[in-house]
Amino acid sequence: MVVVGAGMGGLAAAARLAALGHRVTVLEQAPGIGGKLGWFARDGHAFDTGPSLITLPQVHRDLFAATGVALEDVVDLVRLDPAVTYRFADGTPLAVPGRRADVPDAVDAVLGPGTGGQWAALTARAEAMWQVTEQPFLRSPLAGAATLARLARRASDVATVAPWQTLRGVGTAYLRHPHLRTLLDRYATYSGSDPRRAPAVLATVPYVEQEFGSWYVRGGLRRLGEAVAARAVDRGAVVRTGCAVERVLVEGGRVCGVRLAGGEVLPADAVVSGADAAALYADLLPPSRATRRVRRDLARSTPSLSGFVLLLALRGRTPGLAHHTVLFPADYDAEFDAVFGTGRYRGAPRPVDDPTVYVSAPDDPATRPDAGAESWFVLVNAPRHDPDGGVDWDAPGLADRYAQRVLDVLAARGLDVRDRVRWCVARTPADLERDTRSVGGSIYGTSSNGARAAFLRPGNVGPVPGLFLVGGSAHPGGGLPLVALSAEIVARLVGPA
Ligand SMILES: Cc1cc2nc3c(=O)[nH]c(=O)nc-3n(C[C@H](O)[C@H](O)[C@H](O)COP(=O)(O)OP(=O)(O)OC[C@H]3O[C@@H](n4cnc5c(N)ncnc54)[C@H](O)[C@@H]3O)c2cc1C
Repeated sequence: MVVVGAGMGGLAAAARLAALGHRVTVLEQAPGIGGKLGWFARDGHAFDTGPSLITLPQVHRDLFAATGVALEDVVDLVRLDPAVTYRFADGTPLAVPGRRADVPDAVDAVLGPGTGGQWAALTARAEAMWQVTEQPFLRSPLAGAATLARLARRASDVATVAPWQTLRGVGTAYLRHPHLRTLLDRYATYSGSDPRRAPAVLATVPYVEQEFGSWYVRGGLRRLGEAVAARAVDRGAVVRTGCAVERVLVEGGRVCGVRLAGGEVLPADAVVSGADAAALYADLLPPSRATRRVRRDLARSTPSLSGFVLLLALRGRTPGLAHHTVLFPADYDAEFDAVFGTGRYRGAPRPVDDPTVYVSAPDDPATRPDAGAESWFVLVNAPRHDPDGGVDWDAPGLADRYAQRVLDVLAARGLDVRDRVRWCVARTPADLERDTRSVGGSIYGTSSNGARAAFLRPGNVGPVPGLFLVGGSAHPGGGLPLVALSAEIVARLVGPA
């Protein structure tokens, strides 16, 4: 069996399938493993270049247990408290505790009596949504009408999930304080989406984060990817890097192997693709009626947003800096309009002029040359790379100018590090596309914009017998926990050898 791609989706599927007794070969086009779960090191400074936050650790525990070890025996997970420190446009700071029970008091103390209760009511509703959707949607393959039927078994479940309501809508219903609404809006971006169009059920994201914790892996999150790869190899899988799959081969109506760039053919009775689903359907599969249908669904979906990343090697330390800091702008909607080319920027996406800025600065000796230095991963939402109709992130000077803009925004919001920068590396959506072959550098495949978005996302069963899809661009979606769940679904679909 062949697995295309050694991102977290492909690696998790490989580890599970090898543990089920299959002979698995993982083929990765890049020189190293991890995909978006990347790592950059220079002069003693080191950075996770993709994910910086782990949520739902149980799905990773399940993954490692399925391969015969305990997660905590192979990676050092650290629960963060506070989870994130926010700073709103008027300067109000809000450190959100790492445990759900502590959040209402912390909110009350900063935003005033009663606001904590508003947030608690919202997360209680989100808990009910989670109970209705976790098993039939997130842990099951997408099967069109059957999935809807599973979800709509009881009228009260439908009312709980309110598929007609947006995330912004549920926030407006539960939260009167504008800062709480801004806070909830941000969770749409965890799936690369716009809160004005994403479904209310994304309120489960802050619920999950606060109920099950925000986690860091000591030594960097890349260690999680390395540990999954080690499990796959330990169970007999072979991982080959520098091997780009050029074609999924089909014979007699079923998958029979893959062809690599350079011509080598690897026969296989099954292929699990962890590559971006849009690329799989556009380039790797021979055209057929079934691939046309999925391409049509993909064309009807909004691609997820991308990210502009700065890796900052800094002299000195910042007193009181939290592990994660989020600095909000005055006009959050302007950011979504710019990133998706909607509203005031209809048809013309652009880099966000006054973006929300996310800073992740782990207090971890593995990330800095000495105790007198810091390594910051800075992320802002960005439109995908689209030289034909949108933003061309390779345009001369754009990345440097935008890097300076982000540093200026940081300074204006109280984190002025401009005279502490040893060096700075900018990574644009175009870089992400080149490194991981994600079309346009979309972080999460398709976004969750629109009530039907979740059902337009490619399913885990491919259009040709023997082909399966894992990873963030397939069901149930992006982000490390959902990617791990996609591997769990695929392993169940394939079954033991
Ligand atoms: C900046 C950034 C921040 C993020 N933050 C978080 C976070 O805090 N928490 C979180 O949970 N998630 C986060 N994510 C999302 C998370 O990284 C992804 O959802 C997840 O890593 C996707 O894994 P994947 O295996 O689906 O895809 P990828 O990691 O993209 O893996 C796909 C792999 O397939 C390879 N490939 C593609 N085509 C071919 C081919 N033809 N032949 C061979 N190999 C091929 C690619 O090189 C790549 O290695 C973030 C992502 C980014 C970019």
